This record gives sequence, structure tokens and C-alpha cells, in this order.
Amino acid sequence: MADKSKKRNNMRNKDYDDDFNPKMKKIKKKVCPLCGDKNFVLDFKNADQLKKFINDKGKILPRRTTGACAKHQRDITLAVKRARHIAILPYAAKD
Ligand SMILES: [Zn+2]
Repeated sequence: MADKSKKRNNMRNKDYDDDFNPKMKKIKKKVCPLCGDKNFVLDFKNADQLKKFINDKGKILPRRTTGACAKHQRDITLAVKRARHIAILPYAAKD
């Protein structure tokens, strides 16, 4: 019992920072793909670019997966929806 508490204390003190989650593996901080690259221009006519933001079923990926910031996730969502409307991307795909 004493050993367990000691181990926990060691884990807490040893290079403990905000990114470190003792329960799981180290979480890598994601950078927004649109903020990170200034030359990146989101275009609803560019299907290859938008395919990165949808899954194999055609659903828009969540922010926790894309790593996009709130502002750019809204832009991505709008671009994907526009692309669907002009039949560049599917509304639903068979898997
Ligand atoms: Zn962003």
C-alpha cells in the first residue's frame, strides 16, 4: 500500500505538465490546419482538400479529430456542405 502512494507521487512530480495525462499515453497537441498554414485557402470546389475533413461515410469529422479551431471548423463545415450541394462530395457514402 505504501509503495503505491509513493509511485503516484513520483508520477506527479516527474515532468508533470498540462499535456501529461497519467491515465493515458501522452496527448499530442493538434494545431489547426488552417491557422498553421497561412497559404492554405479553403475552397468548396476543391474536393481533394475537403476529403481530409470527412470520413469514409461522408460525415464531417469533429474538431477533436481535425484539430481545427472553432472559427475554422465552421468554415470547413460550410465548405463541405457547399461541396455536397454541387455534388462534389457525397451526402452519404456506402461503406
Ligand atoms: Zn484555425
